Amino acid sequence: EDISDEPVGIELRVGTSVGPARTTLCDWCRTDDGTSTARLLVARRAGPRGRAGDTVGQYVCGDLACWKRVRRPLKPHEKSVTGAPDLRVDDLRSRVLEFVERVRAA
Ligand SMILES: [Zn+2]
Repeated sequence: EDISDEPVGIELRVGTSVGPARTTLCDWCRTDDGTSTARLLVARRAGPRGRAGDTVGQYVCGDLACWKRVRRPLKPHEKSVTGAPDLRVDDLRSRVLEFVERVRAA
């Protein structure tokens, strides 16, 4: 089922942190520009598994500005030496969709 064209609502909550905040690369944009700390976001799964308390968690930029980070111009040292295309926007989209799929999977 292709869900990329339909809006999907998912309730997210910020996971309770255990111990000091850890610096983790965002699971969605894989960017650490020092402006946001990745936080654990937790979504309850759909269907019976969710009702049984099953959740999906990922570390995501606390300000949810991944969409902005992947559009930031690449610095010279970040550009591919082989000329490979910059796929950050596509990668972000597929990672978020993957997350949504995991939440929706019955
Ligand atoms: Zn991010």
